[in-house]
Amino acid sequence: KGPKPAASAKKGEVIIGITADKEQDFPNWYQQIVTKSELLDYYDISGCYILRPNSYHIWEQIQHFFDAKIKAIGVQGAYFPMFVSQKVLEKEKDHVEGFAPEVAWVTKAGSSDLEEPVAIRPTSETVMYPYYAKWIQSHRDLPLRLNQWNSVVRWEFKHPQPFLRTREFLWQEGHTAHLTRDGAEAEARLILDFYHDIYSELLAVPTIKGMKTENEKFAGSFFSLSCEGYIPATGRGIQGATSHCLGQNFSKMFNISVEDPNNKNEKLFVWQNSWGFSTRSIGVMIMVHSDNKGLVLPPKVARTQVVIIPVGLTKNTKDEVRANVTETCEKVKQELSAAGIRTEFDNRENYTPGFKFSDAELKGIPVRLEVGPKDIEKNQCVAVARYNGEKSFLPLASLTADLNSLFESIHTGMYNRAKEALESNIVRCDTVEEMIKPLNDKKILLIPFCGTPEAEEEIKARTAATAQGDGPVDEKAPSMGAKSLCTPFEQPELKKGTMCASGRGEAIGYTLFGRSY
Ligand code: AMP
Repeated sequence: KGPKPAASAKKGEVIIGITADKEQDFPNWYQQIVTKSELLDYYDISGCYILRPNSYHIWEQIQHFFDAKIKAIGVQGAYFPMFVSQKVLEKEKDHVEGFAPEVAWVTKAGSSDLEEPVAIRPTSETVMYPYYAKWIQSHRDLPLRLNQWNSVVRWEFKHPQPFLRTREFLWQEGHTAHLTRDGAEAEARLILDFYHDIYSELLAVPTIKGMKTENEKFAGSFFSLSCEGYIPATGRGIQGATSHCLGQNFSKMFNISVEDPNNKNEKLFVWQNSWGFSTRSIGVMIMVHSDNKGLVLPPKVARTQVVIIPVGLTKNTKDEVRANVTETCEKVKQELSAAGIRTEFDNRENYTPGFKFSDAELKGIPVRLEVGPKDIEKNQCVAVARYNGEKSFLPLASLTADLNSLFESIHTGMYNRAKEALESNIVRCDTVEEMIKPLNDKKILLIPFCGTPEAEEEIKARTAATAQGDGPVDEKAPSMGAKSLCTPFEQPELKKGTMCASGRGEAIGYTLFGRSY
């Protein structure tokens, strides 16, 4: 028999929450976390999942935060169709080669074959750029900056993972066109900062900003920037979000050009960027913070920030005392809700406080407030932070302000804890041989690197052949070699003449390598 579902447990019963250990059995742990905390449900098509209100709320917080930032710099919203014709999809050669194996095609309508199959967008460069060519006629039409919130489909054959790798996923994709390279580059970097801020300010997750290597950059881009996350429990890196400078590759293929304002006889191809942030981020947040009791959510994104639970009531408690506790809880709920704090009062009868505590812990509610007769006598209540279990006594009179500062300190505490875990797991290595042990110890590695695809392939192959004992999340995956995550903007000093860890040539900088999702 499996664990008892939370909703069917009755008074006196102990909630059976997460039964798998995060360190020992990560795949099972993760699957239980996402389903039992009601973030997501599995669907009958592999790689597709249902986002339930608990996770969709997080996505909405991300949308509000990011949309405000891009609107403030002049990006506008738009929506393009999800279908793209074969002819247009194949216009940029490198791009289509990168995506071809994952493109899903519609070949039939009802029972009749379509004359020309249409593709479902894996990303919208080719959907949008024919119209950019039409709309951009003069340098006065620049910059053109559009963003859409949508879903895309990539029929990936790697093992799907809720949130992290799904066949349809929600994201935003921004597509912009600029007159100059400088204009495009500055924007690509600014957007990366915004992505980094979503992770740090909303999700309390530290990420490392940097440049993708030639091998790992986006198909068809000039250069790609990313912020990279790290999951300590599995020792894997994960690409958190990407901001691509497409250079003039697409504008040349789609003929997006203007007359050079400084030289009327010259045609200038525009400089373009595309940037995307997906629901993968929610998975990263879950994996980084959650524990064996369940989900741990940062207050800023939690659908319920505070749950009020009455305590200290027994069979012998007088009716008026009981009524007073209920009334106080109601009052607190109203006061907090009015101040914009997302509050629930768990007044379910027939459930013990202990059961309610476990349920709130499973769902990741950042703060539980315990209100009992003795607390009321002292005009206070007990606040317990989900992420570290720390208790504090808060006066009822200043509850709103105190909770808001508690949220701040919880956020900072969660962020710092994750940052400590990230930083203490980055190891400097100078050769491939030195990489093997730390890789098996779930570290990510900063190595001197020459930047060539050949060196990267060699490092991947040599670390895969020797590395063992990872207990991979993806059981079907072979023992996985290290690939590059990014070349961090923040670089240690590189001594002249330092060799690439592959031994192939001189290093041009330090690049972060690791097993990754
Ligand atoms: P890309 O267009 O490939 O640069 O992807 C943009 C962002 O979407 C990446 O940085 C990932 O965070 C995310 N992403 C890519 N593939 C998936 C997927 N299959 N499921 C969820 N998120 C994804």
